[in-house]
Amino acid sequence: MKTIVDTIAATRDITLEQLQTVLSATDTAAVDYLYARALETCRSVYGNAVFMRGLIEVSNHCKNDCLYCGIRRSHASVHRYRLSEEQVLECCATGYRLGFRTFVLQGGEDGWFSDTVLCHMVQAIRNAYPDCAITLSLGERSRESYRQLFEAGANRYLLRHETANAAHYASLHPAEMSFDNRMRCLQDLKEIGYQVGCGFMVGSPGQTVETLFEDLQFIRRFEPQMVGIGPFIPASGTPFENEKAGSVETTLRLLAIIRLLHPRVLLPATTALGTLHPRGRERGILAGANVVMPNLSPKDHRKDYALYDNKLCTGDEAAECRVCLDRRIRTTGSQLVVDRGDFRE
Ligand code: SAM
Repeated sequence: MKTIVDTIAATRDITLEQLQTVLSATDTAAVDYLYARALETCRSVYGNAVFMRGLIEVSNHCKNDCLYCGIRRSHASVHRYRLSEEQVLECCATGYRLGFRTFVLQGGEDGWFSDTVLCHMVQAIRNAYPDCAITLSLGERSRESYRQLFEAGANRYLLRHETANAAHYASLHPAEMSFDNRMRCLQDLKEIGYQVGCGFMVGSPGQTVETLFEDLQFIRRFEPQMVGIGPFIPASGTPFENEKAGSVETTLRLLAIIRLLHPRVLLPATTALGTLHPRGRERGILAGANVVMPNLSPKDHRKDYALYDNKLCTGDEAAECRVCLDRRIRTTGSQLVVDRGDFRE
């Protein structure tokens, strides 16, 4: 297995057989070697810096009915909310004071957030914080909408592809959602000039080593600046509520593999990873991740943005999360930094 890890690192490529071997390995020394190589690769590009993104969950209204998602349209017991521009700006102000230099506006696909409303909001953030990056994660929109938001001052866009296998995609989403449109969105975002993040859940129902291999091949072709992967966690009240959660170990191995394949990529240690394991995010950093996304959303609304069960930090103030994360990240020998954390070409 060590030879395989060295080959992946040297060629920045992986075969299906190598992926199978790495994901099924039981030799802990060999798996530790994988993590160590990934960490070393990450540090050779970004040093020991870990970049913070302040997550602002702007709305949990969603027109989509993704089978895995806790805020899907047909989940009747979700208490729906959306933030006003003023509330979003307050979150940014708190975040800026705490050292955040990237704000991520994430939400369900909520028609209330028209291009006019969103462009106004993005411009207001851009004017108030010219030194910060603005990331959007608002799902599928038209090319024209993405273009207007970019012109308004947004720099980055996160849109997980969810799976690079069309049949698997169809099994995770309702018929009205299309794999081709997801791919069209990602292509449009890239062509417009955003730093783009794709990604997927680890252990989503129907995922296999083969579909994961397709994900890695897609990432290789697409060359995103960011890759967001985290374990699937069942959400009660969804069709997948009784499915098994994704594995922390598999997520860590995939993080390490992605780091070896794409040394420069920005790779979050996700909240979902921290939800399934008390040191999940720290372990993610030690496996080659270099981004964390603490929550800046108003405390009153945190519990309503429950994409899955037992989500981390729903009761904490932003400042508490910041201090707690700082302490946690230091235990890995890395350090949270006050920096936009742009992709290094
Ligand atoms: N609506 C936007 C979109 O589709 O990109 C942003 C919000 S969406 C809820 C953000 C991500 O949450 C999805 O891309 C999905 O991978 C993740 N997610 C949703 N439900 C999840 C679950 N049950 N477990 C883990 N991750 C989940």
